[in-house]
Amino acid sequence: MPKIKLDKAAFQAALDRQWQRLGLSRAEEMTSWQWWQVVSGAANELILARPLPQALKNNPRHVNYLSMEFLIGRLTGNNLINLGWYDTVQKILAGYHISLTDILEQEIDPALGNGGLGRLAACYMDSMATVGQSAIGYGLNYQYGLFRQRFTDGRQDETPDNWHREIYPWFRRNPSLTVQVGLGGKLHKNDRGDTVWQPAYLLQGEAWDLPVVGYDNGVVLPLRLWQATHPHPFNLQKFNDGRFLKAEQAGIDAAKLTKVLYPNDNHQEGKQLRLMQQYFQCACAMADILRRHHLAGRTIHSLPDHEVIQLNDTHPAIAIPELLRLLIDEHQLSWEEAWKITCRTFAYTNHTLMPEALECWHEKLMRTLLPRHFAIIRRINAEFKILVQQHWPDDEAVWAKVAVHYDKQVRMANLCVVCGFAVNGVAALHSDLVKSDLFPQYYALWPEKFHNVTNGITPRRWLKQCNPALARLIDDTIGKSWITRLENLRQLEPFADDAAFRDRFRQIKFDNKLKLAAKVKTLTAITINPEALFDVQIKRLHEYKRQHLNLLHILSLYRQLRDNPSLDIVPRVFLFGAKAAPGYALAKNIIFAINQLAEKINNDKKISDRLQVVFLPDYRVTVAEWMIPAADLSEQISTAGKEASGTGNMKLSLNGALTIGTLDGANVEIAEQVGDDHIFIFGHTVEQVKALLASRYQPADVLKKDKALKGLLNELGSGRYSDKDKQAFDLLLQSLQQGGDPYLVLADFASYCSAQQQVDALYRRPDDWTRSAILNTARVGFFSSDRSIRDYQQHIWQARR
Ligand SMILES: *Cc1c(COP(=O)(O)O)cnc(C)c1O
Repeated sequence: MPKIKLDKAAFQAALDRQWQRLGLSRAEEMTSWQWWQVVSGAANELILARPLPQALKNNPRHVNYLSMEFLIGRLTGNNLINLGWYDTVQKILAGYHISLTDILEQEIDPALGNGGLGRLAACYMDSMATVGQSAIGYGLNYQYGLFRQRFTDGRQDETPDNWHREIYPWFRRNPSLTVQVGLGGKLHKNDRGDTVWQPAYLLQGEAWDLPVVGYDNGVVLPLRLWQATHPHPFNLQKFNDGRFLKAEQAGIDAAKLTKVLYPNDNHQEGKQLRLMQQYFQCACAMADILRRHHLAGRTIHSLPDHEVIQLNDTHPAIAIPELLRLLIDEHQLSWEEAWKITCRTFAYTNHTLMPEALECWHEKLMRTLLPRHFAIIRRINAEFKILVQQHWPDDEAVWAKVAVHYDKQVRMANLCVVCGFAVNGVAALHSDLVKSDLFPQYYALWPEKFHNVTNGITPRRWLKQCNPALARLIDDTIGKSWITRLENLRQLEPFADDAAFRDRFRQIKFDNKLKLAAKVKTLTAITINPEALFDVQIKRLHEYKRQHLNLLHILSLYRQLRDNPSLDIVPRVFLFGAKAAPGYALAKNIIFAINQLAEKINNDKKISDRLQVVFLPDYRVTVAEWMIPAADLSEQISTAGKEASGTGNMKLSLNGALTIGTLDGANVEIAEQVGDDHIFIFGHTVEQVKALLASRYQPADVLKKDKALKGLLNELGSGRYSDKDKQAFDLLLQSLQQGGDPYLVLADFASYCSAQQQVDALYRRPDDWTRSAILNTARVGFFSSDRSIRDYQQHIWQARR
């Protein structure tokens, strides 16, 4: 495909227009931040208004990727790299004595997502652009992204993340795409006996587009984020009655709708505003999809031949009844015709098996906010009941599981499986559990619907951009094809045995550790030892991810060193990055415990040359980009069966960190790829977890046998790490003991510690360690999101129907 050539004169002219618009008289008057603004704005001007390359128009089906979250991270550096403009722009700026890398640091991350699910959506957009899949991403333009995190006396504080979307230079508002969205109100029958929905409120959705730039191929896909704004919403009925002024006051505050991102990861709260956000996003997206379809001169019946709608978890599932509504109420199709179209259009990605994360909405809320959609869902449910009755006559237990509407609740995952043509899990193990444990009856009914698409990450951001030195070494060694064909990294394998290559690889890791140490110094004032093993756990804070298992291991090392000051352990720096949902008290207690332990250890003069603990505040994409290139060890220690895939595990391994992990999510496939000798696997397997929980697991039994472990818990409860406050870590300690240790932290502790001893043993043999690190980089090419997208194309989007 044709690249987008950078015309230097045009760029210079765009740059001049941009700074003149700031009201300055000379470019030299710009601050660093203004430089970032104008460079981004100039680049954005030059890539706009380009026709879609012919190759994309010929894609059999256009993909509409619906997600409530797109955790895109900083765009400017990434876009310049993908455009191939980075070096030229760097040179142009050098003419002004401006460093491009410096001004890129000015960008605030657009943090429009929580964690893995939102980041996956961002990697998939990058890969769809890069492999030439025609697509649009649909999401919401939140005014406040995920909260900013600080620590005050070791505790998490949250402040709003105003990322100033109104002046973000990559945005482009498209006023011709504005959509009207109804909410609330009543149903009545018209003269012909058709159901008519008369909403009480009308909102307006504005389309704000960000460009998603394919790597070196001339493709730019839109990421279309909807924003609810003026004109002030008004009560339509009252408006019709002529009581407009009153109506304005009574209306829902539209601007509120897209103000904040809900900060929960893997947990549903069931709030009315969240359902309103979901519907608003889906209504805007569906209107836009149908608008484009009609603009192409196609009949509504051919919609599934040209469009597929991929639902990133159930958050956008309300798009399903919305399409049925549009087809029946607006296009006057029969139920049967509308149903046929709808269930050939939607595909659903499941991201979790955990009950607390599976979305259910109370019928009262659904009926009040979306009466027409609720009626449609009841019809879906009634029709589906007939099918279930045929297969499982009078079996209430089966119906209780598979119903879409049951016990006053609407279950969004069930809606997606019943109405979608494809369901996929996000790693091989997870997809098997989706079939066997979550949806066994659906699998019996429709085995052909079920797929696996193992998650992936984009190598552009997660290697080329974040680790330029390693990227250069790879370029010099095997060429540049890995950037779009990551499996080609296998060509590095022989170099694991090449001492000169190992030295260069090790030196790059060391330089990255020095750079991270400098960041750590600036952000926390802690001086860390770059010669130590950097042991990294970065991910949302959640019990199932078991940061507290890591904590207990650190405490155990600390105790051993106190008891035996001459103990010979490999010096380690433990590095954490994690945000806890503001309402998740236990998760916040774990953060507090880690910070308090860190404080003690880092200030213990006899210890701190061998043990240090750093919790970097405000974990986000940019912080991940600093930490990942510097990691030696990657902590992927979730309770088996709980982490659907993980993608942090892939990023770290790609950058030459060895994994210590359970047989969970994509760890299983990482182990297959890198080989058992180059990964540290420990802990109960999924089957063993099930058996242990079924046998009425008692954490007290573990503690009776493991006195040292009991001693660690007692030490945490002694006040030693909390200014004599013995209750400071009660939430954590009680969950592990009286609470029954639901995530088997204590049950996996011994196995985890012995895996950590194997880590030490290997790290003492630097050549062997580096060899394994190189083989990790060389062997994880499978986890490119380009491969994931090709899997979607082959098995789901372009499959014969
Ligand atoms: C990759 C990524 C995640 C996901 O990490 P997991 O370890 O898979 O949970 C979360 N947050 C950010 C900022 C990421 O870049």
